[in-house]
Order: sequence, then C-alpha cells, then structure tokens
Amino acid sequence: MKRRHFIKNASLTGVGLAVGSTIVGCAETPSEEKKSIIAAATTKASLPLVIATWHVIDATAKAMEILQAGGNALDAVEQGCMIEEANEKGQSVGKGGLPDRDGNVTLDACIMDKHGNCGSVVYLQNITHAVSVARKVMEDTPHVMLAGEGAKQFAVSKGFEAEDLLTDASKQAWEKWKVEAKYKPIINIENHDTIGMLAIDKNGDISGACTTSGLAYKMGGRVGDSPIIGSGLFVDNEIGAAVATGLGEEVVKTVGSFLVVELMRQGKTPQEACEEAISRIVNKPNSDYKNFQVGYIAVNKKGETGSYSIHQWFSMTKFQDGVNEQIQSDYFNKS
Ligand code: ASP
Repeated sequence: MKRRHFIKNASLTGVGLAVGSTIVGCAETPSEEKKSIIAAATTKASLPLVIATWHVIDATAKAMEILQAGGNALDAVEQGCMIEEANEKGQSVGKGGLPDRDGNVTLDACIMDKHGNCGSVVYLQNITHAVSVARKVMEDTPHVMLAGEGAKQFAVSKGFEAEDLLTDASKQAWEKWKVEAKYKPIINIENHDTIGMLAIDKNGDISGACTTSGLAYKMGGRVGDSPIIGSGLFVDNEIGAAVATGLGEEVVKTVGSFLVVELMRQGKTPQEACEEAISRIVNKPNSDYKNFQVGYIAVNKKGETGSYSIHQWFSMTKFQDGVNEQIQSDYFNKS
C-alpha cells in the first residue's frame, strides 16, 4: 500500500497515527486504545526496541522476533533490513529497486555495531542483500567500504547469488521515465526511500543498518548518503544512533547522522537532535529545501526516540512493548 493511502485509511479507521505525543485526527478525549498508542510513541524506555524509516512493519517485526528471542541488535537490524531488500514490491531497496538513468539497479548499504565497527558497500549490482554484504565487509575484511565490481566479486566469493535485480515493474517505470527523462531531485516521497533501522537489544546495546537503491534514475555511478558512515547512519553505543533518508547529497553535506548523535551527546533528546539536524539544512543561505525531502530517526541510550523531516509524510515504524506501529513524523515546512 502506498504510504499516503495508508495514512488516509488509518485515520479513517480510527487506528490513529501518533505525531510526537498526539494522535493525528483525534480532537476528542483519547480512548484507552489510543492512549496506549500515544504511550508507545513517546519516551518509554522499555527494551528491546526497534525503529525504522518509513512504513516497514514486516521488517520491524522480524527484527523484534530476533530481539525477543535474546538475539543481538546487529542480527536484528540486518535481518530486518533483509525483509525489505527481498520485497520486490518495494521499489527503493534491494530487488525491484528503481534503476539509474541507464537502467542499472545499483545498491548502497551499511551497518554499524555496538563497538563502532562498520562495513559498507556502494554501487553494488546484482546482489539483493546489500546489507549482508556490508556486514561481511565489516567482519571478514580489514576494510570499511567496498565499491562496484570489487564489492560484487567479494559478495560472490562469500556465497551470495548474483541475479538480475530489475523487475518488470521497475523496468516499466524506468521506460515511462525515459519518455521525458527529466532528472531533478523532487519531493516525491515514492522516489526517496531508504530503509534505515536502529535497534536496542535486551542488553541495552545498539546497532544500526541502512540499505537503498538510492535516488531513482540517478546518474550512473552516483552514490548517496546511505552507505556513508556518519551521513546515512551513525551508532555510538554510549550515546545513541541515527539514520537518514531523503536527498542524500544534503545529508552528506551536513554529515547528518553523526550530527544527530553528537547533538544527543550534548544533551539534546533524540527529537530535538533530529530537529536541529534538519534546521542545519533548511537554514543554509539559499537552501532549496522546498524542493527536496530529508528525514531522520534517532534513538538514545535510554531508549527515547525521535523523528523529524523537512516535509510532511515522512514516518517512522516503531516496535516496542508489543506495539508495532507507524508513527507520522513531525516536520519543518508547514507553509
Ligand atoms: N538517501 C538515499 C539516497 O540519497 C535515498 C533515499 O533515502 O530515498 O540515495
């Protein structure tokens, strides 16, 4: 289901979407059910917990299954992200991801653990589970990042199967795009998706992962923020973690996820830190923010969470205390 449709349907059915500590579309006194959604959306520090960018309840459910069984946060974020990578209907991650302007599906991903170890792949082709290749880079090589053909050869050497990632649906969308072939970063949220996931396990340890096919119809060779440690993702097990989505160029220019974590180190809540990181982008002189989207989600060591974006329609999926829900993010551009 498209996100906009989900949001509309949810408010009609009374399921409700939480924004910070309020429920969208509920002026009346909240029912007991709504109160419990409000509680889960705010700052309860019950562990384990998992959060992810966008509406990915199957992915957070998988991660929580691992965490509840006593698994660690690293396994949880990897396997949670793998659900979306394998989902051919999602056109922004892994198999079925929208291609670049030449019709090539190229993937970027990274992962980071509680020790500050990290691994990343950029411009990876023909391998669905980019996040797992990133983990192998972290664990089985002395390096942090592998790119392109080298990353693919490494993956194949580790037993990953090479396959065609361009599905019929994505090929058709690309053919349609080619008619006008306009390339400009637009707000269209359907074209700006990344699965970023952060988890805290029962031991209180944090890990994160991020995986994407990047900007749809990008220039060949383009790499965004998602595989760049500190931009698309950052984890500091003493402080917390953050992950980004949206126009990667803008995230890279402000080293966004590292910034969010450093702001939490200075005492800001995850929500305040995400808002400050967005304000660094929109308050630049001559910022063109009306024409692009960026969103952050963050968690601190206490298990408090936050999310914030430039424009409406960004959301976070959060699984905590038995509630797996989509939480609509607050946003900057209310004009
Ligand atoms: N951040 C990703 C990129 O720029 C895209 C996205 O989040 O949709 O590649």
